[in-house]
Order: sequence, then C-alpha cells, then structure tokens
Amino acid sequence: MSDPSPLATARAQLATAVDILGFSDGMHQMLATPRREMRVAVPLRRDDGGIELLHGYRVQHNISRGPGKGGLRYSSHVDLDEVRALAMWMTWKCAVVDVPYGGAKGGVTIDPATHSKGELERVTRRYTSEIMPIIGPERDIMAPDIGTDEQTMAWVMDTFSVNVGYTVPAVTTGKPLAVGGSLGRATATSRGVVDVAAAALADAGVPLSQVSAAVQGFGKVGSHAAVFLHQAGARVVAVSDEHGGIYDEQGLDMPRLMRHVAATGTVVGFDDAESIDNATLLALEVDLLVPAAVEGVLDERTAATVRARWVVEGANGPTTTAGDKVLADRGVIVVPDILANAGGVVVSYFEWVQANQAYWWTEAEISERLELRMRTAYNAVAELARRDGLTLRDAALVIGVRRVAQAHETRGLYP
Ligand code: NAD
Repeated sequence: MSDPSPLATARAQLATAVDILGFSDGMHQMLATPRREMRVAVPLRRDDGGIELLHGYRVQHNISRGPGKGGLRYSSHVDLDEVRALAMWMTWKCAVVDVPYGGAKGGVTIDPATHSKGELERVTRRYTSEIMPIIGPERDIMAPDIGTDEQTMAWVMDTFSVNVGYTVPAVTTGKPLAVGGSLGRATATSRGVVDVAAAALADAGVPLSQVSAAVQGFGKVGSHAAVFLHQAGARVVAVSDEHGGIYDEQGLDMPRLMRHVAATGTVVGFDDAESIDNATLLALEVDLLVPAAVEGVLDERTAATVRARWVVEGANGPTTTAGDKVLADRGVIVVPDILANAGGVVVSYFEWVQANQAYWWTEAEISERLELRMRTAYNAVAELARRDGLTLRDAALVIGVRRVAQAHETRGLYP
C-alpha cells in the first residue's frame, strides 16, 4: 500500500478495531458513516475588490455521546475526505479521554498566508453564517486547528452570538481569555503530549530528562511541546516547520528559538544550528520523535528510516497504516494521536463547562485535572495493550470505538 489518504487510514484503523471487538457489519457501518455533513460555498470579497469563491465543510462524524466537537482547519489542502477523517478521529479521541462529546471537524480550502487579516475575518464570518444551522453549544463546538487560532474562534463566537441575539461563549473553545476562554487551553494539547510521552517513557524506566527529542511542526502544538520537553530536561535537538528544519546535537536553546520564530515566522535561519529538511528530521537518531504538523508523514518509506524508540503523535494522523506496521515491526513504540494529542479537547471540555456555568477555574485546577485525565486515559490504554498484546494505537481505538458503540446500543435504534 502506498501513501493512502487520511480517510483511508482512518477507515483502516476503524476496521481493525471492529475486527478485534467482533462487531457486526451493521455496527461497523454505523461507526464508519458520518451522521451529518455540510458543504458550503464561501464567497470572499478580497481587499482589491475582486471576489474569490472558497469551499468550506463541517462534518459531524458521530454525535451519540454528546455534541460534535472538533477543530476548524484553514489550509489549501483541505477537502471533504480530509475533514471526514479528522472528524472520525475526533469521535474516538473524545471517547478515549471520556469527555461527553461526539466527533466533528471543519475546514475551508484557503491558504491563510496569502490572505490579509481582514479577509480571514470575512471568510470566518461567512463560513460560520453558512453552517449556523448545525453548530451551537449543544450541537457542535469548534476549536482551532491548522491555520486558525484564538482570534478565529472569537470571530466564530461573535458571528454566532450576533445572529442569535445574545452572547454564546460555549459555541467555540480555544477562545481568547477576554471572551470566555480558559486558562491553559492554548498550551493544553502540548502539555498532554508531554504528559503521555513521560508516561510512556516511565513504562520503560526512562525519565524525560534523559532523552533527546525531535519535533516536526512548530505551530501551536509543536512549539509548546518542544518548550515543555526542554523544561522537563529533555534535549530537543531538532525542530522543523513547512519551510525546513534546524538541528543542534547539544540541544536547541528554546527560549532564544521562540524569540527567533516570533520575529521571523519560521525556525529556519536560527543561528548556531545546522539546516536540515523534514525527511532528515524524521530519521534522526533521537529517543523521542514528535510529529506535530500534518497527516501521512510517516508512511511505509519514511517509517523505515525512523531511529527513535518512541513516536508520540502530536499531529492527527501522521502515520499511515503501512507506516504503522513498519514501526511496529521495528519495535518503535507509537503513542497514537487519539490519546497523545487529546489534551486540547480535554481543556476545551473544561472551557465549555466553565462557559456553561459562567464560572471560571484557576490555572492550577485546570492543569491538575488535565494531567489526571491524560494519565488515566494513558494507563487504561497501556493496560489493555499489555493484557491483550495490542499496540497502543489498537488499544486506544478499541477503548474509544467500544465506548461509542455502547452509546449506540444503549440509546437504541430509532425508530
Ligand atoms: P498550526 O497551524 O499552528 O501549526 C502547524 C505547523 O506545521 C506549522 O509550524 C507549519 O509550518 C508546519 N507544517 C505544515 N506543513 C508541514 C509539512 N509538510 N512539514 C513540516 N511542517 C509542516 O497547527 P497546530 O494547531 O499546531 O496543529 C498541528 C497538528 O496538531 C495538526 O495535525 C492538528 O490537527 C493537530 N492537533 C492540534 C490541536 C490544537 O489544539 N491546535 C489539537 C489536537 C491535534
């Protein structure tokens, strides 16, 4: 199998879990099929007065355990099948960390780098207006993903609120603090990545402070993951973004690197470090590899070059089915996306709870509850993997898929 799409990867993962669980074909189809999909045209008036016609999507893969939950992606690579795959992964992720949500995802096919802030605001407001009928705090709640941020979530929240006539903070998570965001949300995904990395290493008796690490992707997830790894004493020797990567065998000076990225927008050009490309980063001789960029980077070919002992998936779907098999055969321990990057959705859940109660928690309460949820989820997955001889991915999928199937069975089939 060569370079399958994210949707093919997501479907193959579900098929494996269904096989292990011994579910019927009917249940398999129920779990595989999105409940609701919306495709919208998003006409944008450009700053020069011209009109650009964009395409947007919102997929609610499953809403049996609660409202849809999932990010909004702005990228020129977005298409309906990618959004379907990401929505399916959200369903299992919410179930693995046991938050009362289904899985959803949205996207607009746009390159944010070639659009002004005003244009991005207009796209966001028009897209939100088009999908208004299917979103809301009890229906489907958005969060940032690739190419979107807390400002995007503020625009979504404002557009929704203006349309219904009152302020509805709980329609999005990952908002700025000033409009009902939660302390700790911006770094929650990365904290969770580092928490589960520490737990996986601890299973082998290795402390984080003794490992070297490489992080692919230096956006919201990758940059903070690199900083937290550095703070925990790990030697972060390489990082990259879509423009290229940098390497320093002694370990990168993270505070200086963060300042360089804030000033230039990329890790490239950081002095005192060697330039490398993304393929080289994946193949570095490090203990821990954190892919935190895009899907499908660890395929059959690149997985064969990985020399890390642990891969902790910050990104969604970074490993293809064939890549997964190569890594497993080579004894690489993969902590799967639906567990490893679930810290974001856990604190999104906290943000939604706080917004619904109009009562805000302290940062200490949030980080303590986040760590507890991540450790509990990791322990359940690791225990099942040990007991039944499964990979961590298959164990996480089995737990997530079983919980969703239980919701279907308990609710019954209407009519
Ligand atoms: P982001 O837009 O903030 O950052 C993406 C980073 O990846 C950027 O540094 C970009 O330059 C880099 N990148 C893009 N294409 C690349 C390529 N081909 N090779 C190497 N680097 C590349 O996005 P993000 O929110 O950090 O999301 C990253 C991944 O984490 C995605 O898979 C996303 O779905 C997943 N994720 C994000 C969150 C969250 O809370 N933001 C939560 C869970 C999972």
